[in-house]
Amino acid sequence: MQRATGVSGPLLARALQRVSDPAVRAVGEKIASGARLDRADGLALYRSVDLIGIGSLADAVNRSVNGDVVTFASNQHINPTNVCVLRTTCTFCGYARLPKEAGAYRYTLDQVLAEAASAADGMTREFHIVGGLDMKAGLAYYQEMFRALKANFPHVHVKALTAVEIAHIARIEKMTWRDVLIALREAGLDTMPGGGAETFSAAVRDRIAGKKLAGADYIGVHRAAHELGIRTNCTMLYGHVETLEDRMEHLQMLRDLQDETGGFLAYIPLAYHPDDNELGRELGRQGTSTGGGDDLKMLAVGRLFLDNFRHVKSHWIMVSQPVSQLSLHYGVNDLEGTVVREKIYHAVGAHTPQAMTLDGLIALIRGAGKQPAERDSFYNVLRTFESPSPEPVPA
Ligand code: SF4
Repeated sequence: MQRATGVSGPLLARALQRVSDPAVRAVGEKIASGARLDRADGLALYRSVDLIGIGSLADAVNRSVNGDVVTFASNQHINPTNVCVLRTTCTFCGYARLPKEAGAYRYTLDQVLAEAASAADGMTREFHIVGGLDMKAGLAYYQEMFRALKANFPHVHVKALTAVEIAHIARIEKMTWRDVLIALREAGLDTMPGGGAETFSAAVRDRIAGKKLAGADYIGVHRAAHELGIRTNCTMLYGHVETLEDRMEHLQMLRDLQDETGGFLAYIPLAYHPDDNELGRELGRQGTSTGGGDDLKMLAVGRLFLDNFRHVKSHWIMVSQPVSQLSLHYGVNDLEGTVVREKIYHAVGAHTPQAMTLDGLIALIRGAGKQPAERDSFYNVLRTFESPSPEPVPA
């Protein structure tokens, strides 16, 4: 896939005036020359403390592609099962349970439909469905679920199952990834979320998710989806034990697949939360979180290095609403949507609300001086809201 668009010369020239670190300036001048960033450039950005300079460059690139429009979707999260065979090996996860452990659950179809029912008269346009690797949630479980959701809520898009879940279903059903995807698409799967990527580095995976689908296989499942025309998102979990080199390896793998298929819709960095999970206890980091500066840098470096992605999303559930609002000046053009009943990140200590109203999202975006717009799951703008207020509006 070709790069998303050329970068505006005047915007970039103004951004370069705000850069104080010569290393960041060199990267900015490389972008201005039309050259592609390499891993060394990405490392220079990660190592720099010139957050304003990095953010200014990312903002210039984003505004060249997306203007001042910031999009969001009205979505509803459904987590049908927290039973997971990797419960004891994904040490960063506080959500999963073993089948007979206290708190374990697996929704029946009626329970899924009851949870989805708020979409009937609300404005939900997308179900975001992810859960554990449950031996009793195979292909038939999800086919039945997707068919019923489509029958009852035909206007709602089904974004469901991470690459890790697709590979799990393939394994227990003895099918290929491709055949699982074909069967699920026939049942109603529209697109796939990007979770399960964690950090691709084998050393990191050995440490925090020893038995999880390898990074190359995560890429392989997404490639299979893209080849079938199923668009997907992608993520990176950061702020745990990964190195800056690991982050760049990860971004390189995402950019390479996007060059090959063009099938990714958005890149979404996900902040690690250390509460209520084994890794947080091992690292002695409970009660802490990734810093706002690193959160912003992750988004800005993603915007600059992933030059073939149009959309970079901030997940306010993980980094807080104030950081997400600031991120709109650090290369971000999309915010996690209204979300109903988020469970997974709150299981590991996220202190953010579990949902945000439409008015809250609009106020957050307008408060950053941006133009709010509701989008569909393919990032087509459905409606825009009033122009930004000249005065900051509390989110
Ligand atoms: S991160 Fe996913 S695969 Fe790992 S234990 Fe948690 S739910 Fe299971």
